[in-house]
Amino acid sequence: MIIVIKQNSKEQQVENLISWIKNQGLGVHVSKGEYNTILGLIGDANKIDADLVSGLEIVEGVKKISEPFKQANRKFHPDDSVIDIGNGVKIGGGSFNIIAGPCSVESENQVCEIAKSVKASGATMLRGGAFKPRTSPYDFQGLKAEGIELLLEAKKLTGMPIVTEIMNANHLPLFEHVDVIQVGARNMQNFELLKELGKTQKPILLKRGLANTMKELLMSAEYIMAGGNENIILCERGIRTFETYTRNTLDLSAVPMLKELSHLPVVVDPSHATGMSRLVKPMALAAAAAGADGLMIEVHNDPAHALCDGAQSLTPAQFDDVAKSVFAMKKALGE
Ligand code: PEP
Ligand code: MN
Repeated sequence: MIIVIKQNSKEQQVENLISWIKNQGLGVHVSKGEYNTILGLIGDANKIDADLVSGLEIVEGVKKISEPFKQANRKFHPDDSVIDIGNGVKIGGGSFNIIAGPCSVESENQVCEIAKSVKASGATMLRGGAFKPRTSPYDFQGLKAEGIELLLEAKKLTGMPIVTEIMNANHLPLFEHVDVIQVGARNMQNFELLKELGKTQKPILLKRGLANTMKELLMSAEYIMAGGNENIILCERGIRTFETYTRNTLDLSAVPMLKELSHLPVVVDPSHATGMSRLVKPMALAAAAAGADGLMIEVHNDPAHALCDGAQSLTPAQFDDVAKSVFAMKKALGE
């Protein structure tokens, strides 16, 4: 349920209403927009008598949120959420960020060289997998804790915040200095993991599952938000369809749809979506044109010898070309 407060209502009256709601065991999310203040009720809103609230002098209207996701809902928070990553980087609310880096952290030299080059090309965040969710148990599983250490070295060198994937909530202590924790497609519905991440205040990059609907993605965001962590970035990375030429099918309609349904920023990963480096540029441009708040792109200094996802990884030079083209297109669009 959301309660729209009349303009110019007295602060004290609004405070009284908030206390009254809280006394009934609900949380209240206050969203102060340009024109109206909106109170979003967190918890079982059936406890609140909507007719009684509608009749209050300061209340302009009461709306029930019919969708199962409440806190992630745009109705709950009409303005775009802006996620503060630190080091001057913010995602959402009109800014545009490119997260770039290798699929997996392989060595200090590899991650630092890639970090320096993608930063020079305009990337604002560095990605790199330390714990890798691989289909085969015989494939490279990542450098784990050492991988995170190497990412932190690259952060020290470049000042770029780092994004890396978590697969097990028991690993959380290792992520203390990580700026953005990624929940990969395969863990989008690992609800116990989502609940643990909800107890932190870390920005979470939540990737859409291989066969999950937008509603399910938003419900997973809701799990994290229900725990008290509102710092979520949604990521469209392609879904599984009957098509086999591309690794996945990039669902670009998810960008405007998710942004209509939710206030959370949406980034697009054209690398995992297509699985082919030559398709990354057209899909990156298309994602930016569709209104994405940013991109996540895999870059490797030697794609042919990458330990993971070489076929979809761009060289630093290719990444530079993609980034330049995307920025030029955004400029031409006046954004
Ligand atoms: C990744 O970003 O490294 C990754 C494994 O992606 P996804 O979870 O989207 O497959
Ligand atoms: Mn990858």
